[in-house]
Amino acid sequence: ENKSTSNFLKNIVNEDLKAGNVDQIITRFPPEPNGYLHIGHAKSIILNFELADEFKGKTHLRFDDTNPTKEDTEYVESIKEDVAWLGYEWDNLFFASDYFEEMYKRAILLIKKGKAYVCDLTAEEIRKMRGSLTEAGQKSPYRDRSVEENLELFERMRQGEFKDGQKVLRAKIDMASPNINMRDPVLYRIAHANHHNTGDKWCIYPMYDFAHPLEDAIEGITHSICTLEFEDHRPLYDWVVRECEMEKVPHQYEFARLNITNTVMSKRKLKQLVDEKVVDGWDDPRMPTISGLRRRGYTAEAIRNFAREIGVAKADSVVDSKMLEHFIREDLKLKAPRTMAVLEPLKVVITNYPEGQTEMLEAENNPENPEMGSRLIPFSREIYIEQDDFMENPPAKYHRLFVGNEVRLKNAYFIKCNDIIKDEGGNVIELHCTYDPETKSGSGFTGRKVKGTIHWLEASQAVSAEFRLYEPLILDQDKDDETSFLDNINSKSLEIVQGFVEPNMKDAKPQDKFQFFRHGYFNVDPLSSEQGKLIFNRIVSLKSSFQL
Ligand code: ATP
Ligand code: MG
Ligand code: MG
Repeated sequence: ENKSTSNFLKNIVNEDLKAGNVDQIITRFPPEPNGYLHIGHAKSIILNFELADEFKGKTHLRFDDTNPTKEDTEYVESIKEDVAWLGYEWDNLFFASDYFEEMYKRAILLIKKGKAYVCDLTAEEIRKMRGSLTEAGQKSPYRDRSVEENLELFERMRQGEFKDGQKVLRAKIDMASPNINMRDPVLYRIAHANHHNTGDKWCIYPMYDFAHPLEDAIEGITHSICTLEFEDHRPLYDWVVRECEMEKVPHQYEFARLNITNTVMSKRKLKQLVDEKVVDGWDDPRMPTISGLRRRGYTAEAIRNFAREIGVAKADSVVDSKMLEHFIREDLKLKAPRTMAVLEPLKVVITNYPEGQTEMLEAENNPENPEMGSRLIPFSREIYIEQDDFMENPPAKYHRLFVGNEVRLKNAYFIKCNDIIKDEGGNVIELHCTYDPETKSGSGFTGRKVKGTIHWLEASQAVSAEFRLYEPLILDQDKDDETSFLDNINSKSLEIVQGFVEPNMKDAKPQDKFQFFRHGYFNVDPLSSEQGKLIFNRIVSLKSSFQL
């Protein structure tokens, strides 16, 4: 069952189709091209496309580009790429800015009907005079301008005779309405700014509350799905559609936005992280953007499964970020080859192994998916192990290497540590061990047991690689309070280490995904080859405390 649509919206669509209110449903995903999409947008994309799909309807990708100062074609392109990557094909691609002429005509219609007027109050005066929940609104002194005067002033606004902020067009609805959105909302504002699509053609731009219902009506959207904070705007949405005498009547429905622990979910704040260089661009693997998640190594399938599982609710809640991690582990579990990588190498010399000899050992590519077969890996007298897998003065219950202890090398032999080599500073730089040929992996040796199994790489053929290890970018739950947001940046969100991978990894391609034994899932960074070295982004570690 697809929980992303098995919800109240599905019931509404079902009823509408049954009652013959609509013949075919049309939904839309309407991003403003003022930033890159984030995981919250993914939820909306998945909901809109899958709802339409389930009822053999259509979905439009519409750029809600009515705010020239913040929009850019770079964002338009990234949004198209991200929606397609998530696995969805839009039936139509539209720009709200293509409807500016139509919107202007509808505004004139409102003026002619006495339902809109040009107001000279400043933004601050308008805000104050609209009152509050406990305080009635005050009428603007410009509210009773004649239709002729309003038509003339609005035309002059369009012609560019006034400066930004000097005049606005307002709906004439009800300054005493208990719903503040209905207290003569602003429909048009002046902005002398270049628009990414219409250039300098317009210097007046429609406000969201006026533009959005018209866009939906023009496109014949049947179910216009938005987040809960627009619930109080619905009466205005319906007013605009009705008073503008739109032929097709869309309806707005609200659902709870996605919030995730330790995750900033606002384009504006994400842009701040980019602009202030806290991160290395919108696609930094620490970013909750679709492009960041992709570069980190998340798959579209994992994101879709995550969205389906959380479903669609009517009440806001916060999802644990561990749940997203759970879905990428689940997706990669059977798909990603399992190989060995040493992130912080320590040289080990196997003193009783013949010098100059190399043997090839067989290793399974994925014990949970035998179809992935096996590979051969070299073994010789010198290998690397993880620095962490040796301790000079181990505590009780430490089962890895220390002098006198024996461990199993994954896919190879038991080795026993006999000696430590230190540099002048007293740092351990090399271990001398002996191996027992009888303990070869796969030989069925049962003579004795060891408690620790560690990973390793043959030293002469190991391929050097860089590993980027991530921690959350934000330490505490973002409380949507400006100061706490930037104060809670985790200065240790990125750790870069230089180590090695198996020789056959030299052919790994950008976006290839692997499970490194004991270290977790990793993705080959897209910039890897460009930089002439292998770079692996850790997608997620292996540990999961999350249970569905
Ligand atoms: P932001 O504040 O991050 O810019 P937005 O809602 O202003 O978000 P839009 O480009 O207007 O960004 O969003 C396009 C669509 O994505 C809208 O329909 C919006 O409701 C939806 N959306 C945005 N954020 C979320 C979220 N966290 N959860 C679910 N849907 C979201
Ligand atoms: Mg928006
Ligand atoms: Mg926004």
